[in-house]
Amino acid sequence: MKKDLETYKYLIHTWDPVGTGPPGALPRMEVSVTNNLIHDPWIPVVRKSGGHDRVPPWRLTDRYMDDPVVGLDASRADFNGAIVQFLIGLVQTTLPPENGREWRRRLRMPPTPEELRTAFEPIVQAFDLDGDGARFMQDLDLSEGEPTPVDRLLMEMPGEQTLKKNIDHFQKRYTVQCCCLRCTGMALLTLQTNAPSGGRGHRTSLRGGGPLTTLVLGRTLWETVWLNTLEERQIDALGNAALREPSDTFPWLAPTRTSTGGEVTTSLDAHPLQMYWGMPRRIRLQVTEEEREVECDLCGDRVTETVTTYLTKDGGVNYKGGWRHPLTPHTRVKNDPDLLPRHGQPGGVTYRNWLGLVQSHPERGIPAQVVTTFREMRAADLEEIRPRLWAFGYDMDNMKARCWYEGTMPLLHVGEEGGLRERFEAEIGRLIRAAELVVSSTRSCIRQAWYEDPKNAPTGDLSFIDARFWQETEAAFYRQQAALPSVFERNEDPAPFRLSWLRVLRDEAMALFGEYSQEAQIELADPRRIARARRTLLMYTSPKNRLIAQALDLPAEPKTTGKRGRRVEKQRQST
Ligand SMILES: [Zn+2]
Repeated sequence: MKKDLETYKYLIHTWDPVGTGPPGALPRMEVSVTNNLIHDPWIPVVRKSGGHDRVPPWRLTDRYMDDPVVGLDASRADFNGAIVQFLIGLVQTTLPPENGREWRRRLRMPPTPEELRTAFEPIVQAFDLDGDGARFMQDLDLSEGEPTPVDRLLMEMPGEQTLKKNIDHFQKRYTVQCCCLRCTGMALLTLQTNAPSGGRGHRTSLRGGGPLTTLVLGRTLWETVWLNTLEERQIDALGNAALREPSDTFPWLAPTRTSTGGEVTTSLDAHPLQMYWGMPRRIRLQVTEEEREVECDLCGDRVTETVTTYLTKDGGVNYKGGWRHPLTPHTRVKNDPDLLPRHGQPGGVTYRNWLGLVQSHPERGIPAQVVTTFREMRAADLEEIRPRLWAFGYDMDNMKARCWYEGTMPLLHVGEEGGLRERFEAEIGRLIRAAELVVSSTRSCIRQAWYEDPKNAPTGDLSFIDARFWQETEAAFYRQQAALPSVFERNEDPAPFRLSWLRVLRDEAMALFGEYSQEAQIELADPRRIARARRTLLMYTSPKNRLIAQALDLPAEPKTTGKRGRRVEKQRQST
């Protein structure tokens, strides 16, 4: 314990305004007259027994042996996504493991709630949500500006433009007008973590608007937090760790580094831990003390302290240059020295995202550092945890969120011995490539069944076909993946293994074709055209097909490259 506090000596040293006492002293709860995100039981959780509870962050590990906290239980899924990052950030900031051994020890024997409370105490003043001084994720000295309705803190709420144009069909205005302080805190945390551009000078989050987050998911909430906590030296390597003022980590403790004149904040201008505590928006909540209890529009609790408006101003911290957030996968763009954080996309997360989210891929990108660290340094001997990848984010429509999506996938451990992992990854790449070919053929053959001239037919949204295809082949993909290491170990010929996967894909393609090809209006349906499209699909999904054979590294059939074959290939590639 002492060691951990040593690490944070600079915080205790420079920052002890209300006299919380020497390091190690337990906090005096009565010190806080404000709402404090370390002391208050604001985090909605669910326990192993299914019981619901609300805990302060330090009680993350209480009753760990009999009824541990297994997950978050906020009123909105995006709040859960922000809260888990808050907890990871908190533990990363105050208790990073010194080395792999310590990491392993704490995974099995988590710190007690008292140990956590002691570890969080030095930074407790940064977590007041209200009061006159520094407030969590709020601008230190913002005192003017137009009061903004509290629902604008929610990611999906229509902005000014949408309201003016009267096009808020999906997100109804005026449904959230009054929030309790806890819900407001969660909304504020969620917005600062994900902020889209809010109009001129209203900055995006450190990872841009609506970043994709990927975590390693454990059996308990502690495991999830700890599985994503890096060693201190790993964090230090991500930026300018020499900057040790508290405000270098928690930007709201000092006047905002504004960006009204175009100033940017690069990874050299802040401590790397600021990635967990970014504050792109200048916001200060206006907290009201009501005379009678009123109902919170988000959680339904009856409270006397409410928020209906907040102050905001443009020109907040403009994070640009050199940032690489450990919880987000990145891609490389040509001619850009920086890696770009990945964002959500329509269609959600399935095994087709394996490349780039779990496994590095030259075009699809580089997985989040926590995922790579887990796979390369930590995963051995942790099979009993059955770790999964948990990916989540918004599907953004420029300035507002269209929807939230999340998904999980198993993280199978494959050792490095004898180049096993390399072979495993190459094989997974083949399976996914084949699936991509089959799904695109399915889509194009369904169009061929529907239209005489599919090239010039209306371009309807056929993404539902993709979505079903990925979903319905997913279980088989993981079965295939689990069987793979033994194929290698026994030195078997991989061809039958690949062909069995192709059969799964082909069966699904034919099932979807059967279902959707007939769906054109009956007077337009042409049985001969449908039969022709079906034959084409069978051909495209055959092991003899050149692209399939290439993707799965199967011996190619010399005859398929005849004149007609080439023309058909060309046609498919262009759809
Ligand atoms: Zn509430």
